Amino acid sequence: MEDRRYLECIEEISYILLKNHKVFKVSQQFAEITEYTTADLLGKSIAEIFKILRVGPSVDIKNIAEKADYFLFTKSLEFRSISIEIIKEEGSQLFIIREKPNSRLEAKHTYLSELCKSNFVGVAVYSVPDMILIKANQQYLDFLEPPFNKSYYSIGKNIDKIILGWSGSKVEKFWKEAILTGKAVQVKEYEHIGYERGITYWDSIIIPVTEGESIKYVVSNTYEVTEKVLNRKKVEEQIDAINLQNKEMEAVFESIPNGVFVRSKEGDILQQNEISRKLIEHSNESKTSYGKNSEAKYFNESGKEIDIEDMPSFRALKGEKIKNQRITVVDNGKESVLDMSSSPIYDKENTVLMSVTAFDDITELVSNEKKIRNNREQLKAIIDNMSDGVVAIGKCGNLVMLNKAAEKHFNVIKIIEGRNKNDSEIEYFDVNMKELREGSLPSDRILRGEIITEYRIIIKRYSENIYMCISGSPVYDDSGNFLFGMMCMKDITEKVKQERIIKSQHDSVLQAEFERNEALEKTIAMKDEFLSIISHEFRTPLNVINSAVQAMEYICFNELSNNTKKYLGMIKLNTFRQLRLVNNILDITSSNLKSTKINKKNIDIVFFIDAIVESVRSYANKKEIDLILETSYKEFVVAIDSEKFERILLNLLSNAIKFTSNNKKITVRFNTLKENIFIEVSDEGIGIPSDKIDTIFEQFGQVDSSLSRQVEGTGLGLSLVKKFVEDLGGRIFVNSKVSKGSAFIVMLPNEKVTETYEYRSSKEFFYNHILESTRVEFSDIYL
Ligand code: ADP
Repeated sequence: MEDRRYLECIEEISYILLKNHKVFKVSQQFAEITEYTTADLLGKSIAEIFKILRVGPSVDIKNIAEKADYFLFTKSLEFRSISIEIIKEEGSQLFIIREKPNSRLEAKHTYLSELCKSNFVGVAVYSVPDMILIKANQQYLDFLEPPFNKSYYSIGKNIDKIILGWSGSKVEKFWKEAILTGKAVQVKEYEHIGYERGITYWDSIIIPVTEGESIKYVVSNTYEVTEKVLNRKKVEEQIDAINLQNKEMEAVFESIPNGVFVRSKEGDILQQNEISRKLIEHSNESKTSYGKNSEAKYFNESGKEIDIEDMPSFRALKGEKIKNQRITVVDNGKESVLDMSSSPIYDKENTVLMSVTAFDDITELVSNEKKIRNNREQLKAIIDNMSDGVVAIGKCGNLVMLNKAAEKHFNVIKIIEGRNKNDSEIEYFDVNMKELREGSLPSDRILRGEIITEYRIIIKRYSENIYMCISGSPVYDDSGNFLFGMMCMKDITEKVKQERIIKSQHDSVLQAEFERNEALEKTIAMKDEFLSIISHEFRTPLNVINSAVQAMEYICFNELSNNTKKYLGMIKLNTFRQLRLVNNILDITSSNLKSTKINKKNIDIVFFIDAIVESVRSYANKKEIDLILETSYKEFVVAIDSEKFERILLNLLSNAIKFTSNNKKITVRFNTLKENIFIEVSDEGIGIPSDKIDTIFEQFGQVDSSLSRQVEGTGLGLSLVKKFVEDLGGRIFVNSKVSKGSAFIVMLPNEKVTETYEYRSSKEFFYNHILESTRVEFSDIYL
């Protein structure tokens, strides 16, 4: 205690006295060491005092040792190595702080102070191992991020606090290496990323400083090279960009579809692209004057050999500008044609520096051109040899091409073409003699896109008529654009004249034919009329004979001898046959004269058919033929011309009986279907050969027309039947097989007429009437 009080009195000792944890007294010596005045420190706690003095390393105020070595920083932030001894008493603490003798940096390491003063490079001294910044010049501090660029904020602090991202950084590794090896380490262009300045670059040397055995400090000499690095990088980037540009340029140069090469004024190839290399440069390895040591020969368009010096690229070196010159290169027997253009390139002084040549290999094009030329010539030869005139007309009606044949008609073409429209001596017309004016000319129409096929025109020229047959069409390219109009023309004047002669001959032949036919028709009509008159005239005496015979039979039948009766019968039969023939001829002639009259009335056709069948039964019985009528109808009313129908059915029945042998069967059927009625007469007779089926309906058509035939007949019956059926609006069919039989089917319309009519006459009237007709119709068949 005595000691302490004693010490308090000794001003030479450096101490601070705390009473009640606050600085109560500061010795003069302490103030001198620390450069702080009593006023700066009085009343502060020991923690505040340590903070002000930046006491380190790592002081734990609560457990501070009674005596230990530390460092502090003076007010002017000078580093001092100190020892602290604490004397504690109740209510007061005495901190005796002694500076270690000869511990000052500026005294021990004078060069460091000098280095710091120079401010040429950034200099910093850090303590080892705690890495506290104990000294730094402003140059160094300037490298640090604010606020650490001020010594007040950075001195006495750990490097990790003042340099951003220090821990784990690359530069920390260099520092550790220097401390470990005790050797200086050089760091070149270290990249540092800061908040404020972004990326900066540093060159630095880390020098470990030894005191005694151990490393006490690390001195960092740092020199910022950001600008230098950035400048260099910029230059490098520029170089890269230029290299890229060059590469791009080269790529562009290479990708040019033509061959391109640059020739220096000395004649060397400076640059060329792939195409150029392949086609021109034979000695790619040496960029010497091409062609000079090559075997190639060069020819101009007229086929004249030219010297290498006269090639476009060399001529351009003499200041000439060459456009699209065709050069044929013959090299190693291979011939290629190049289309070359060359230009000189001048420097500032306007002297030729080099020449640039672009060329295209047009060998194929030239050969195609040649082929096309040959084809065209061939085509022209063909067209010229054509007898027809061929003309090609351009878009504006101009003449593109004409062949020799067309040349002959050149004047005509001019008109067609419309060039000579004002020539009043020449007019032209269509075949109807309608004048063709401007716009309706064949050429005009073709130019409008029309296709003309064999169009005839008449050209009147100096009172002469020329006939032309014109065909033509517009010709388009692949894209549908009009190219030209093609027109073919033929002088058909002679042909037209011939045609006219033939036509007039033909007309007179036709006229003669017509007249002949007319005369023939007249003759036939006269014949029919004659026959008709004759038949009528025949009928009257026949009827008289018939009546006389009937009168004889009626009046004196019993008085007649059997022989007389027989002859009388023969007279009667032959009268009927004659009557039948006359009737038939009359019917035929009247039908030829178109005077057939149809008189349809509603009748019960079933009754009528039955009556007809019954009227011929005696003829069938004579031959022991079974004659049957088959129908499901008891009555069926239909409009019909009874007279014609009677003739039809009697005719078919007489044929059936005639051509059917004894003991066979004949069936008559009646039926209806839809709009028609059907009457069928079928027999089991001799039948008709298939090749004769059509003949039997013709006039005088018979299967057996020989004189030795078995049965009588004229061959007129069926032709009349067919005619009557058709007159009644129906059709007839036949079905027949030789030796099996025939079936004649008559189809008639199922219709009625409006007028009322007693459709069923008395049976008696019918029978008598029919019997009369039957006798005539059956006169070929002997009873
Ligand atoms: P024709 O007076 O000769 O009988 P048609 O015109 O009535 O004249 O008949 C023409 C020919 O048709 C007959 O000559 C005969 O050869 C053949 N014909 C007609 N009907 C029959 C039939 N039912 N059977 C066989 N042949 C027939």
